[in-house]
Amino acid sequence: MTCPFSEYRPLPDGDGTPRAYCAAAEEFVQAMRADICNDRYGLDHATDCEIYRANADGEVGNGNESGDAP
Ligand code: SF4
Repeated sequence: MTCPFSEYRPLPDGDGTPRAYCAAAEEFVQAMRADICNDRYGLDHATDCEIYRANADGEVGNGNESGDAP
């Protein structure tokens, strides 16, 4: 299951291609971290991401409480 904080947004000054974004950290996610966000390769956001663990109590549901399009 993908992390509920995971979103895809275009870079503000980019070409519009959606990039992995963390709603908990409020920043774009580096490629290696995105594997955790998407629970790839046996990784699990609940155990492998310190940002998720620090924010799990305030979980935002399906990842988009901001109203922005994913
Ligand atoms: S796994 Fe961590 S970095 Fe990725 S969206 Fe969730 S909280 Fe953010």
